[in-house]
Amino acid sequence: MKIKNLLLYIIGIIIISAVISSLFWLENFKSFREFINKIEYSTFDLRQNIISKYKIANKDIKIIAVDDESYEYIMNNYGSWPISRSLWADTITSLKKANAKSIIFDFLFIKPNLNDKKADEALIESIKGTNNVYLSMNFDFTNPQVRTPIELDKKFEAKINIENIKDFDNEYVKYDNVRSVMKDLSDVTDKIGAINIYRDEDGIIRNLAPLYNYQNKLYPNLSLLVGLDLLNVKNIEFKNNTLILDKEHSIPLDSSKKAIINWYGVSKTYPHIPFWKIVKATKENDVKFLKDNFENKIIYMGATTTSLSDIKSTPLDSNLSGVELNATFLNNILDNNFIKKSSINYDIIVTVLLSIFVGYFVLKLSSVFKTIVFLTTALVLYTSLSIFLMQQFNLWISLVMPYFGAITTFILIYCEKYILKSKDYEQTYKLAVTDGLTQMYNHRYFQEQMLIQINNYKRYKTPFSLIMIDIDHFKKFNDTYGHQSGDCVLKQVANILKRNSRTSDFACRYGGEEMSIILSNTTNENAISMAQKICQIVRETKFTLVNNETVNVTISVGVATITDEIEKTQELIEYCDKCLYKAKENGRNQVVSEI
Ligand code: GH3
Ligand code: MG
Ligand code: MG
Repeated sequence: MKIKNLLLYIIGIIIISAVISSLFWLENFKSFREFINKIEYSTFDLRQNIISKYKIANKDIKIIAVDDESYEYIMNNYGSWPISRSLWADTITSLKKANAKSIIFDFLFIKPNLNDKKADEALIESIKGTNNVYLSMNFDFTNPQVRTPIELDKKFEAKINIENIKDFDNEYVKYDNVRSVMKDLSDVTDKIGAINIYRDEDGIIRNLAPLYNYQNKLYPNLSLLVGLDLLNVKNIEFKNNTLILDKEHSIPLDSSKKAIINWYGVSKTYPHIPFWKIVKATKENDVKFLKDNFENKIIYMGATTTSLSDIKSTPLDSNLSGVELNATFLNNILDNNFIKKSSINYDIIVTVLLSIFVGYFVLKLSSVFKTIVFLTTALVLYTSLSIFLMQQFNLWISLVMPYFGAITTFILIYCEKYILKSKDYEQTYKLAVTDGLTQMYNHRYFQEQMLIQINNYKRYKTPFSLIMIDIDHFKKFNDTYGHQSGDCVLKQVANILKRNSRTSDFACRYGGEEMSIILSNTTNENAISMAQKICQIVRETKFTLVNNETVNVTISVGVATITDEIEKTQELIEYCDKCLYKAKENGRNQVVSEI
């Protein structure tokens, strides 16, 4: 292949892939991009499923689950729901006794319970003076006329230096209202974090915001709060869209300031202990049970009952409870393994490179099988690379866009190659059957066509005729005006023949200054009148010579039509030739159709 062609192809591929990439990028193609995003999400989920087999969840994280059994136990023994806050107070006291590392509530204590003030007091008392009991709040968009937004105490703000709060000003992390813990409780603790969650367009949770913007101040996520304490981090830094906790721990954020979660497994990856067992152990003062299960552990408490908890879908499990989601977030913070998504620029570059690579080999490889094997191998390798990068470097490189680019390039280049090939073939064929001087069909084509016609006649009885033409005294003409002028006249006679034959006729140069027309589907009568018409036109035409002089030329014409007696093409040609000879004998410049 010529260098110029190759360059053209490469430029073509770059343009194709740039157009494809921009489809993913332009705002106008939002629904298209959402569709592609959905497919990309499923490739992410697939990768997460593969690599989760190699991840080990933090063994110190445990979940106290208010499950169906606990619900029944409490209803049977205490006869009330929601759980009396005195039970929570007792639980905290027990866990403190068992030396739990962190005690985290995925429950909201929003309003004082006026019917059970003692329980509230007990809860407040159990939390007072602790620094490892964490409570939840939840931001929302409730209309201020329905619930007046409260001002949150400064002590609950995230410990972060941020120059421009506008960085966190988007529809995902900025909220209008909040449901926080009751006032008496918030007075005794500063450990309150938010438990807001996000679902992607397909309803699956893949990310969580570590910080929330409320009244232009940032508040931490519940698990971030716990993580900072466990890592002993006093202050967060925000740089290059990344939250830097310390030298070893940071949280990369996406454009909407959310962190992409790296999943460890399905439900119960973190051991669940039913709440009723703690209540029972507390009542029986079973310190051994409490220590065995909770000493030095990070304890999340939340609802897992199907009736109470909202069930979340994640890439690994369609049935995960909210409390497990928060535990996973903490695990990501401690393991420093949040997922980082490749940038759109990277995606475009990879798409272009992969398309060039695929396009080049499609051009090089000759067989369909080889090209398909090559394309499949290239895509499998790229997919394996994407799994490797996610497992080793927590990196999510785009799969769909490069796939789309490579496959489109493959199809386009393949089509182009096919079209060019057939064009080449057409050109070669045309050259092979055309006479160079007159641009008529050549003798070879004449023979081919005669064979086709005679076979058609034998099969379908479609008649055809043959006209043979010879220029009169052409030898003399050449001698008088020169060979070049002779060529000139030959061309002009050829043009007359071509112009006056139908699309179903074949005007050929038989040899020298002899020409013929094969008239398909034509009777003898019609062939004779056509021959006479041509003979007359030639007779009346002024032919221009090379010196612009004009002269008259005449032709003699033989006409023959197929009959049942004729077996071979040669017989018809001979008959026609004899007619032509007779026309010469009879004085030239005429048509003869019988011998
Ligand atoms: P007749 O009327 O009997 O046909 O006389 P004629 O001179 O035309 O005789 P004939 O057909 O046998 O002569 C063929 C001549 O045609 C010979 C050659 O000089 C001329 N001729 C054949 N091919 C070409 C060609 O390609 N170019 C030119 N200029 N002349 C050709
Ligand atoms: Mg001749
Ligand atoms: Mg002649």
